[in-house]
Parts: sequence; C-alpha cells; structure tokens
Amino acid sequence: MTTASKVKCPKCVKNAAAITCEGCSSKLCRGCYNDHRQQLSKELDQFVYEHDMLKQQLETPNENEPHHLLKQIDEWKKDSINKINQLADQCQADVNQLLDKNKDQLINKFRKITNEARKGQKDDDYDERDLKMWMTQLKELKDELIKQSNICIAVDKQQSAWIKRIKVQEASPQQGNAEDSK
Ligand SMILES: [Zn+2]
Ligand SMILES: [Zn+2]
Repeated sequence: MTTASKVKCPKCVKNAAAITCEGCSSKLCRGCYNDHRQQLSKELDQFVYEHDMLKQQLETPNENEPHHLLKQIDEWKKDSINKINQLADQCQADVNQLLDKNKDQLINKFRKITNEARKGQKDDDYDERDLKMWMTQLKELKDELIKQSNICIAVDKQQSAWIKRIKVQEASPQQGNAEDSK
C-alpha cells in the first residue's frame, strides 16, 4: 500500500497524520498525538499547582500580615498624633515662658511698691492718699497674677490642611474600563 497520497504528520514528518486535535486543529500521527496530550497534561498539572497556591493564599486569615492600606492608615495616625504632640509641647513651653516673664514683671512692680511703702514708713512721710495708692497697686498686682490677661490661645482658622483628613473609597470598575477603551 502506498502512503504518497496521505498527509504526513508535521511533528515527526514520518507517519500519516491520523488524528486531529480539536483544541488546536493540528493533524498528528498517533504517537505524536499521545505526546501532545502528555504535554497538555503537564500544563494542567501546572495549572492545578498555581490554583492550589492561590487557594491557600485566599484561605489565609488577613490578620497574619496587616494589609498595606491598614498600615498606611496607621502611619497617618502616628504622623497626625506626632504633629499634635509637638505643637502642644511647643505651646505649653511658650505659655510657661510667658508666665515666667509676667511673674518677673510683677515681682519688679511689687518691689517698687515695697520700697516706696518702706521709705514712707521710715521717713514717717505718708498719709491716707499714699496708703490708698499702695493698696490699689497691690490689688492690681494680685488681680494680674490670677488673670495673666496678656496671654491667650489663638486658633489658626486658615491652616485647615495641617492634618489632612483621609477617607477610604472604592474605585468603580466601570470607570477603569471606560479609560481603557479610549
Ligand atoms: Zn492540540
Ligand atoms: Zn508524528
């Protein structure tokens, strides 16, 4: 019998191409077709391996490794708290400094009254007007020591972005596709 009229297998270029693979439409001889199936079987094994790996990843609980978005929120929190702590420390240091400065000034005024009163007493050179004045000055100093009215807290209404607000949002997949098709 002659094989001249038969199409030869393109793989081995020897045997007749007897079987057609439906998947890729190659016409192969029986032996090469078996090899072809074997190759597909190896690829299926690879798929099963990748599939099982992904399954394992999906089934691993989230708390093992915090998601990077959770880390990002935590970073923002630490950053913001640091900023607040630093500014609060700075402002408290400023208040303490101003209170010390105020007290120094009050002590100076107080000494002046003390000296005037002592001198008046020593020289026996004072009357009701001096006494009234010293009492008034003393009361003013006492009030000022309690009130410290030259210091106050100013809120900066302009600087709203000093700590940036964050929020979590879900990207819409429709928008992504619209961008791709352009
Ligand atoms: Zn095939
Ligand atoms: Zn062949």
